[in-house]
Amino acid sequence: MSRYEDFHARSIEDPDGFWAEQAQLIDWQTPPKQILDASNPPFANWFVGGTTNLCHNAVDRHLATRGDQAALIFVSTETGVEKTFSFNELHAEVQRTAASLMALGVGKGDRVLIYMPMIPEAAFAMLACARIGAVHCVVFGGFASGSLATRIEDAEPKVVISADAGSRGSKVVPYKPLLDEAIRLSKYKPAAVLLTDRGLAPMELVAGRDHLDSDMAASHRDAVVPCAWLASTDISYTIYTSGTTGKPKGVQRDTGGYAVALAASMKHIFDGRAGETYFSTSDIGWVVGHSYIVYGPLIAGMATILYEGLPTQGIDQQPDGGIWWRLVEKYKVTVMFSAPTAVRVLKKQDPALLKRYDLSSLRALFLAGEPLDEPTARWISDGLGVPIIDNYWQTESGWPIITIANGVEAKPSKFGSPGVPMYGYKVKILHESTGEELTAPNEKGVVVIESPTPPGFMQTIWKDDARFVQTYWKSVPGKLVYSTFDWGIRDADGYFFILGRTDDVINVAGHRLGTREIEESISGHANVAEVAVVGVADALKGQVAMAFVVPKAGDAVTDADVALKLEGEIMKRVADQLGALARPSRVRFVTGLPKTRSGKLLRRAIQAVCEGRDPGDLTTIDDPATLQKIKQLIVA
Ligand code: AMP
Repeated sequence: MSRYEDFHARSIEDPDGFWAEQAQLIDWQTPPKQILDASNPPFANWFVGGTTNLCHNAVDRHLATRGDQAALIFVSTETGVEKTFSFNELHAEVQRTAASLMALGVGKGDRVLIYMPMIPEAAFAMLACARIGAVHCVVFGGFASGSLATRIEDAEPKVVISADAGSRGSKVVPYKPLLDEAIRLSKYKPAAVLLTDRGLAPMELVAGRDHLDSDMAASHRDAVVPCAWLASTDISYTIYTSGTTGKPKGVQRDTGGYAVALAASMKHIFDGRAGETYFSTSDIGWVVGHSYIVYGPLIAGMATILYEGLPTQGIDQQPDGGIWWRLVEKYKVTVMFSAPTAVRVLKKQDPALLKRYDLSSLRALFLAGEPLDEPTARWISDGLGVPIIDNYWQTESGWPIITIANGVEAKPSKFGSPGVPMYGYKVKILHESTGEELTAPNEKGVVVIESPTPPGFMQTIWKDDARFVQTYWKSVPGKLVYSTFDWGIRDADGYFFILGRTDDVINVAGHRLGTREIEESISGHANVAEVAVVGVADALKGQVAMAFVVPKAGDAVTDADVALKLEGEIMKRVADQLGALARPSRVRFVTGLPKTRSGKLLRRAIQAVCEGRDPGDLTTIDDPATLQKIKQLIVA
């Protein structure tokens, strides 16, 4: 057995011993009495009886040894601001925010919804919640009022934290009007809103509800707010993710298990060391932002770069395709984390930009969120000359499921494969309908994880244990296993290859979207009778959404001008309700949609036709002419 295989085997055969050792990587106020309580599968309770705090582990425990060292490096190529906060300064800022939240009545277990651009105040807010035991729910700033409203209704936050505006490509994106509209749409109304005024867009404050954080902070300038010691199994946060229904799921995470999982991953997977700098180009609105912009690097005592901006614009707001590499050089970044889409954007820039900077500090580049295609992997690997490490995971897992654990053993990578199952994960490939395990190499099946899931993995769906069990653990007949809803194969050497989703979830530029959510938004248009949204392969974004609409008034099918107008209205509707990310790249009008005789929409057949593939077995199709029509539209 190789060193890593041995490490993995131990984590599976002796989870208590293995994770008790990993638990030493963080500070506990009270050490755990039991490492794992798996008595009620599929629920796994980690480090039972232990008390700890994420903010203490990310900030306070470093003060004695590295208080003056950089903790948070904020770079905004949108506003030209570049500012470093030491651990001491971060500590003060977090306490100030925590004091403001407490003054607004927030206590342990209360939810705080964070709808923020990539500014330091967003990280202060997350850490402040963790400090006082409030549950944060960060909603990606690119989501619009409709998406935000559903999340406010589900989370029922006492306070919402937001800002006047974000900025993208030097264009101001006002947040406050979107938030006001979301609160208007939501049946649940938060008691207070705490706002950062960046001076980018005018804000109208609602008397009695809205507060400026600058005003609040003035009265809490030197606040001392101790960390609340939380049970390991207490909730740290929820983060919403899309599934096959229109209703997003609040992925709920614990405190102690998450802290240990992140600390262990920083050591064994990312190989990041205290005093170094970590640069993740993600957004705090995604799980990568939670784990590897905010908590992971800070827990490891590393400085973390919080970057607001495009990969192609410099700090002087002029075009600069080398900005990321400039930052790697300047801050001596050792570990970098990004997404394949971002690399595909950079590929269009001058390749010489990769050679212009001193990148000798960089140990590895991690890419996740979507399949990493070989040409992109080769291009960046040749350009940087450091290992490119594909890692496969989900919002649900909180940290990589399949990758290469370089901190344990530098196993070779294979192009197209994220690698092997990580310690703590029992990953199997099962036959989609029989549930039988597929053990022969290269057999395609559903990628599943056996119980118990490791520390850091989602505890449940917020407020809905039944949905958690039903959605994730009951999809394979006869077996209680967690379905990733991804197709995969394992080769003869044990390397996994991920082949796309088994459900109606699509992945646009590394961001997960439910086609049902987009369909629901489109169906709300007065002139839409029926709609099908599918994800179609795209060279830059991986996938884009494409909508096929049956209009109520048929002239959109025959009249190009009417069609163009309706297409514009539908696109705007989706962008306004869900956000620009969800806007379909094209809307096509048809007189009928391909369905089975029992009325089930054949999305996979539509998708295959759009991608020029064979739609497979169509014996169940009710009206083959509908699919034929779609094919003609695509070819045209
Ligand atoms: P999210 O929860 O938004 O992170 O999306 C998770 C989904 O993204 C997974 O279920 C996969 O479909 C896809 N995904 C994430 N990372 C990878 C990867 N490295 N390779 C292939 N697909 C990935």
